[in-house]
Order: sequence, then structure tokens, then C-alpha cells
Amino acid sequence: MRTKMVAGNWKMNKTLQEGVALATELKNTLTNPSCAVVIGTPFIHLATVCEIVKGSPIRVAAENCADRESGAFTGEVSAAMVRSTGAEYCILGHSERRQYYHETAEILKQKVLLALANQLKPIFCIGEVKEERESNRQNEVVKAQLEGSLFDLSAEEFSQITLAYEPVWAIGTGLTATPAQAQEMHAYIRSLVCERYGKEVADNTTILYGGSCNEKNAAELFANADVDGGLIGGASLVAEKFAAIVAAR
Ligand code: PEP
Repeated sequence: MRTKMVAGNWKMNKTLQEGVALATELKNTLTNPSCAVVIGTPFIHLATVCEIVKGSPIRVAAENCADRESGAFTGEVSAAMVRSTGAEYCILGHSERRQYYHETAEILKQKVLLALANQLKPIFCIGEVKEERESNRQNEVVKAQLEGSLFDLSAEEFSQITLAYEPVWAIGTGLTATPAQAQEMHAYIRSLVCERYGKEVADNTTILYGGSCNEKNAAELFANADVDGGLIGGASLVAEKFAAIVAAR
């Protein structure tokens, strides 16, 4: 049975003090969740948030890591540094990183390898932009993203990856994919994993949906056979909303 998961992505929100308050509230609320719960925080929160949630079911993710191991890369944070905070996951390939920081498939491949080498489990985001969906090219886009950054991994390495299908047109826009659109794409992604790694790996791969998923639409999205949970942006910033999404899983 594959892991069901709800993961939050705080993005560039919350001061350290606000992050401490949110993590504390989540720890006190999510005492016995029915699925795996991960919160993705800015780098500066990681060590403190890891201390706060220690002993609880909540795990912590970074939102990025460097594509180099160490050295003279001012302002960068390496996978080893992330791991040293206690974080166990790392969100990689988010569309905002691809779009605003020009992260290519090749750069993301390096980041994935460094994350894995440092015992961080990648939550790897894929998804098409609006024009690609409108011209019905979503399948080829997602396939190229998987092939370009992940499909050179061994089966053992790939089993550490959580995938997140995030149609870019749905992120932060209030335009959620319909449950049918999500299921169709998740099933397609699983079929690609099956072609590359076989049925057992495909059946065990957790595929999250992300894009304006909230406490109102989560249950309907999660009811689909291939939708194993959600990657949540905006709604992960409010403990009550995030907990309601976790409860829907
Ligand atoms: C995200 O950025 O990963 C995301 C899904 O954002 P939102 O939930 O705000 O659309």
C-alpha cells in the first residue's frame, strides 16, 4: 500500500515567529492524522520547526536545495545542510522555481541526486502551464519532466520520490483541476512510472495533487483512486484549513 500524504508548502510566507506559532498549532491539532503529514517551510524555519514537531507525526520539508554539494555559492543552501536541520523531505521542481529561477530539467536532476545522497526524500513537482493544457499537450509536458529529471534513477532511488502533479494554471489561482482531470493525469503518470519501473514501483508511488486544493474541494479530489493526497500552498498557512485537508485524506 502506498503512502497517503498531505504536504504543505509555506512558500515565502511567515516570519520565524509566525512559523513557530503555526508549527506549534499544527503539532497540537494533528495528534493522530490518518495520513502522512509534511510541512514545507522556508530554510530559516527548518531547524526550529523540526524541534517543535519532534515526537509528533509531522515531518518537515525544505522548499528547495542547491544543485551543488558545497563551497563558494553565496546564498545557497545544500542538501546536506537541509538534512542537518532534521528535515526529511525536500520539495523540488516547483513551478515557481522553474519559472522564476530558471530551473531546468538538468538542474533539477542534480538537485534530486544531491537530495537522495543526503537522505532527503524529494517531493518532485510536475505539471503543465495553461497554454499547454489548452493545446492538449499536458501529457507530453509531464512525460518530458519525468524523463528529464527522474527516469535515470534506479528503481531503488525512485522509490524515495513522492510525485506532485501541479497544473501550473491551478496554483494560487483558485482554478482547481476537476477531480476527473486530476484522476486522468495521475493515472497517466502512474502508467509512465509503470512503463519505466514496473507495476510494483508504480503501485507504490505516492502521487499528490496540488493547485488550489483547499478544505472545501480536498475530499472530492482525494476520492480518486490515483490521487494519494495533496500538496497545499495557500491553505497550508492556516492551521484549521490545513488540518481539515488532512482530515479529508
Ligand atoms: C503550490 O504552490 O504547491 C500550491 C499547490 O499552491 P496553492 O495551493 O496555493 O494553489
